[in-house]
Amino acid sequence: MCAQGAQLLVDSQRVYQRNLCQQCLKCVGECFSGALVAAGRENTSEEVVAEIERDKDYYRHSGGGVTFSGGEPMLQREFLKEMLVQSKALGFHCAVDTAGNVPWEWFEQILADTDLFLYDIKAFDAEIHHKATGVNNKRILENLVRLDATASRCGSASR
Ligand code: SF4
Repeated sequence: MCAQGAQLLVDSQRVYQRNLCQQCLKCVGECFSGALVAAGRENTSEEVVAEIERDKDYYRHSGGGVTFSGGEPMLQREFLKEMLVQSKALGFHCAVDTAGNVPWEWFEQILADTDLFLYDIKAFDAEIHHKATGVNNKRILENLVRLDATASRCGSASR
């Protein structure tokens, strides 16, 4: 049923392993009972920004802007970059909400188009972080230090 092995039958029970799923949605088309349905829809960056633009008067009067969140928006960095560039061209303040566990080079690709990073740190202590999330926090903290240094160099108050 699933080429990735994300869906298995074990003792006549369906077992779904989310970590293996590539979100190709092929199983939805093959599900004869209709039990699997796709929710949401794919959009181009232009379509998303057009949706954002509908609230431009609100942003202008409230001093607000756009926050790209997730999940982890940095995992779709090309798409994120496109939306940031288009949103900045429309004059919107842009924030990115991230857990920071991505290569520093990915941050560099969007720095110029991001006004504010909302940085989600689960724990400063490495052991506690690993216990709570299953991942090491070394890169997360290193990226935060680099972001702070970048903001300081630019004389920006956005962090
Ligand atoms: S969406 Fe694709 S990868 Fe995920 S379970 Fe269905 S067939 Fe497998």
